[in-house]
Amino acid sequence: MKPLVRRILRIPNRSIFAFIFLFSLSSSCLYFVYVAPGIANTYLFMVQAQGIMLRDNVRTIGHMIRHYTNKNSTSNGTDYLDGTNYTEFTAQSAVYLPENFTFSSQLPCPEKLPFMRGQISINMSEISLEDVYQMFPQDMDIGRGGHWKPTDCIPRWKVAVLIPFRNRHEHLPILFRHLIPMLQKQRLEFAFYVIEQTGTQTFNRAMLFNIGFKEALKDRKWDCVIFHDVDHIPENDRNYYGCGEMPRHFAAKLDKYMYILPYEEFFGGVSGLTVKQFKKINGFPNAFWGWGGEDDDLWNRVHYSGFNVSRPEGDIGKYKSIPHHHRGEVQFLGRYKLLRYSKERQYLDGLSNLIYAPNIVIDRLYKNITVHLVPELAPVRDY
Ligand code: UDP
Ligand code: BGC
Ligand code: MN
Repeated sequence: MKPLVRRILRIPNRSIFAFIFLFSLSSSCLYFVYVAPGIANTYLFMVQAQGIMLRDNVRTIGHMIRHYTNKNSTSNGTDYLDGTNYTEFTAQSAVYLPENFTFSSQLPCPEKLPFMRGQISINMSEISLEDVYQMFPQDMDIGRGGHWKPTDCIPRWKVAVLIPFRNRHEHLPILFRHLIPMLQKQRLEFAFYVIEQTGTQTFNRAMLFNIGFKEALKDRKWDCVIFHDVDHIPENDRNYYGCGEMPRHFAAKLDKYMYILPYEEFFGGVSGLTVKQFKKINGFPNAFWGWGGEDDDLWNRVHYSGFNVSRPEGDIGKYKSIPHHHRGEVQFLGRYKLLRYSKERQYLDGLSNLIYAPNIVIDRLYKNITVHLVPELAPVRDY
């Protein structure tokens, strides 16, 4: 006999099964987006990128048809080909110094060095840190903590590379294997700081960067700081890791987003600011626990302080992500609210309200700063 309620409402069995099926399907989808937001985001941006590529292809075909039907002149009336790739053309043809350039140890290192040839050959195979130590023996002048500086010219920038870290041990050696030769070719002074989170809280990338910044400045007078995800490998050694007049977003084109900037305000992956700029904006916010939003807040801070963001031109800003099987950090659902109050929070939460007790170990190629993170380390007054 049918239960009374269903008899009264006259709901057939099939509808109940369909409802249960759709309900469980949509809750599993939502749960997936929550626990693996990085993957969900990648998928969304990929769909968007495919749309943009399709539009570009249609435009290119249009240009070609116009070009062939009007052979005597270029379609834009100049000697350059029409199209959107003009910046890439200028970037690729920018003048780099010749092989026989003579260095002087008394003069600043140039920015466009002969060793910077463009495309880097990338090797994603897993190796141990010991293997990387062998690749860069101590007689190559790499000091403890991965400190190196050129001797044939005066480095233009003293760069601290900060890497936020928890449980990605197989990524570190792959990153070092690519970054060390690139930074040496760029004749920058550098050292690496791995800031490792312990404790049971969700990951806090931004707070780790603030701590790394404060600790790095205790070591030496760095003037440029690079905020570097451990799984981002630059594809082009002309992506110069020095700083400039404006904060810089280095990771402009990611393979996982089909090499298309996902949105104009995207500031994730790898970014860099001078020490002065970073102090002026009061660093990263400390209040973003879990995946997402902290890089968007940094973008807001940079703009509220009157800066713009520069990016490498053309293909120079390409990066590959190290493929991995880690469960993504849970999504930080409170990010939208915090982002609405970026301006009000900027000087209440950041470098200014952070207290912490690090545990420091100096390794051959980096300084390891371990910190137990809890929200009480960065109390915020009401705003
Ligand atoms: N990270 C980490 N362990 C974690 C989560 C994040 O070391 O459990 C660091 C790591 O440097 C990583 C960065 O934070 O590259 C950004 O996190 P993730 O790669 O998960 O973000 P996505 O690339 O998916 O945006
Ligand atoms: C998040 C950022 C993230 C970006 C790209 C945005 O929705 O807020 O933190 O870097 O997506 O994945
Ligand atoms: Mn990543």
